[in-house]
Amino acid sequence: MKLCVVTKSPLLIKPHKSAKQVKLNDCYTAGQQLLYYYIFAWQGSVTEICILHPSIVQTARPSILDSPIEYLKGVGPLRGDMLKKELGIFSFRDLLEHFPLRHIDKTQVSPIAAITPATEFIQVAGVLVQVETIGEKYGKRMVAQLKDKTGVLELVWFQGINWVQKMLEPGKEYLVFGRTGFFNGRPQITHPELELLSAQTMDGKSFLEPVYPTTEKLKARSLNGRQIGKLMAALLPQISERDIAENIPESILQQLQLVSRYKAYCNLHFPPSVDAYDKAVERLKFEEFFIAQVRLQLTRLERHKQSRGVVFEKVGDLFNDFYANHLPFELTGAQKRVIREIRLDTAKGHQMNRLLQGDVGSGKTIVALLCMLLAADNGCQSCLVAPTEILAQQHYNGLQELLKEMPVGIKLLTGSTKKKERKIIAEGLMDGSILILVGTHAIIEDTVQFKNLGFAVIDEQHRFGVAQRAQLWKKADIPPHILVMTATPIPRTLAMTAYGDLDYSIMDELPPGRQPITTVHRFETRRASVMDFIRDEIAKGRQAYIIYPLIEESESLSYEDLMQGYEQVKSYFPEPAYSISMVHGRMPAEQKDTNMQRFVTHNTNIMVSTTVIEVGVNVPNASVMVVESAEKFGLSQLHQLRGRVGRGSEKSYCILLTGVKLSNDARERIKIMCATNDGFVIAEKDLELRGPGEIDGTKQSGALNFRLASIVNDKGLLDTAKYFAEQIISSDEGLDASPNLPLKNYLIAQKGKTVWSKIS
Ligand code: ADP
Ligand code: MG
Repeated sequence: MKLCVVTKSPLLIKPHKSAKQVKLNDCYTAGQQLLYYYIFAWQGSVTEICILHPSIVQTARPSILDSPIEYLKGVGPLRGDMLKKELGIFSFRDLLEHFPLRHIDKTQVSPIAAITPATEFIQVAGVLVQVETIGEKYGKRMVAQLKDKTGVLELVWFQGINWVQKMLEPGKEYLVFGRTGFFNGRPQITHPELELLSAQTMDGKSFLEPVYPTTEKLKARSLNGRQIGKLMAALLPQISERDIAENIPESILQQLQLVSRYKAYCNLHFPPSVDAYDKAVERLKFEEFFIAQVRLQLTRLERHKQSRGVVFEKVGDLFNDFYANHLPFELTGAQKRVIREIRLDTAKGHQMNRLLQGDVGSGKTIVALLCMLLAADNGCQSCLVAPTEILAQQHYNGLQELLKEMPVGIKLLTGSTKKKERKIIAEGLMDGSILILVGTHAIIEDTVQFKNLGFAVIDEQHRFGVAQRAQLWKKADIPPHILVMTATPIPRTLAMTAYGDLDYSIMDELPPGRQPITTVHRFETRRASVMDFIRDEIAKGRQAYIIYPLIEESESLSYEDLMQGYEQVKSYFPEPAYSISMVHGRMPAEQKDTNMQRFVTHNTNIMVSTTVIEVGVNVPNASVMVVESAEKFGLSQLHQLRGRVGRGSEKSYCILLTGVKLSNDARERIKIMCATNDGFVIAEKDLELRGPGEIDGTKQSGALNFRLASIVNDKGLLDTAKYFAEQIISSDEGLDASPNLPLKNYLIAQKGKTVWSKIS
């Protein structure tokens, strides 16, 4: 867009980090609408232009919040520097955004004798006696005793000893706050917050006093958690409603009875009551979710507008022929729905980028196949990328079987495909005779070129990275539609936040006739009876998996475990009556395939394996899954493993073997596994147990950087925020209606903090 910017009156509106000069300008755009622009200029050349609406221009004025922190009363250059270095607080705004850790009731001073092992935090007052540094090097620490009428409390510092030592004045009376613990039977506080006790400390006006995060160095500069509160107390009266402009439309605030942004900030820091604090927190949590949801909706909208996609305009002969004559079963309602969603999405002219979540065994493969036939009907080639060779091979065999009476060229390409075969594949891809290419990541390599790639399925990995996606894009003039099928359901709230800018489909229905898998927990001491059980199942013609934890394929210790386990299994199931397959990551690919194949074709009764078979493998005749050392596995992994059985119509069992000693977390995981087969429920529990930061691939996603809100504890609020965000965007995607302008202005001011999803 070419801007015709007319300078009206040069005005210094807003100091900007790199802006020497800030001018207010106006101009007419093609739409004849009068708009205003901020021009950020650096040494004469324009660096950034923001479009503003008149309403913000009226309120635009230098905000006190942009003042450098050293100008705040009580700070000055020295402490200012420390605040910058230690906490990244550069301006008044940064300080305002420094949220309290907690509030303490100042009037509550407890006697030291009241501390019990059950006490968590405590505030006591006493005389500081005997300060000494003990230990050497890494064990070095400083210990002081605080004495009141009832007893003695030990105060310990491991860090910042030099600073703290300078500050402490033995013999004086201190007010001390901190988390209590017991050491050698004596109560102590490590890294306490403390301040000299004075008449003033004891008659604070605020009932709930904020305590802020700080560092040892700052504490030594008289900026402990409570003293930062004094700075905050100096700051807040200088701020007015205009400095903390509202960013949520008035109607939403009213409907949800949320307090204003300004009030929320005031009460977050200095709440007049617990209730006022809770209201402030609720408002700010909602704001976090709401702003994030609005952003995600906008990103998604933008992507739909910008990304050109192949148009699959018709359902043709291949699809119809297969559907009518070769589909081995009736599709489930969920499968039909998802195919419809994909059909509609690929007909729109924008590139589809869809995440298909379906629990293990819900039948994702057939959905992928039907979509690939849809692509073929529209003159496009497809590829299906699987995470492992075993899985790629299995998909290839399965699809080939399904398509055997159809005129659809299909080939397999993996790392171990021979040169000669590669050449044949390369030709078939270029002349268009291969319509479906199944394989591993080998497909993504630049050397693999298609005539007309229009559809790419990525199976069992929701971490298909941006770089890999880009590589796929390069294979066609118009980027192919992408369907990512997940190995494990993603918790609903995570899907709404970390993956929220994607389109997603859910398959929450299993094919009919499946019996629920019975899951039990057994201690290793009862292994013999478990083996007896396997023997009974084998007698009925079934097969069994026995899985060992080989977390890192290079861990030799676990490798030994596996080998020992294998010998043990062999002794329970001697040849020739029984035969056993073994698969592990150290095996050459060919041997792996042969062994796997022998199990698939029922030439062996038992598959002893590491988690290489974790995802996707489909042997419907297998009815028992034994997981050795199940306590070492995470929930989603256990669920994936269990998903290998229960794929046929026979009753299946999953037996989780563990040691006798279990951590609380492990016990909880096992309990959940025994209680439910529902992958969506398990995903939610997993999120609760591990926390959002630990879930694969989302750590750096930025979408979860909520300061107050939590996708685990504030689910309801997230739903509400999503609902309102959708309402607003669907009725006013440009956010141009006047009630939405504050929101628009806020988003513009926050621009640059875009959310990038980790997946395609
Ligand atoms: P996943 O979603 O775990 O990838 P698969 O696609 O491997 O599941 O399907 C699991 C099994 O269910 C396969 O044997 C498949 O043939 C079968 N299946 C899929 N859809 C149906 C259906 N609608 N009715 C009956 N069986 C089905
Ligand atoms: Mg699968």
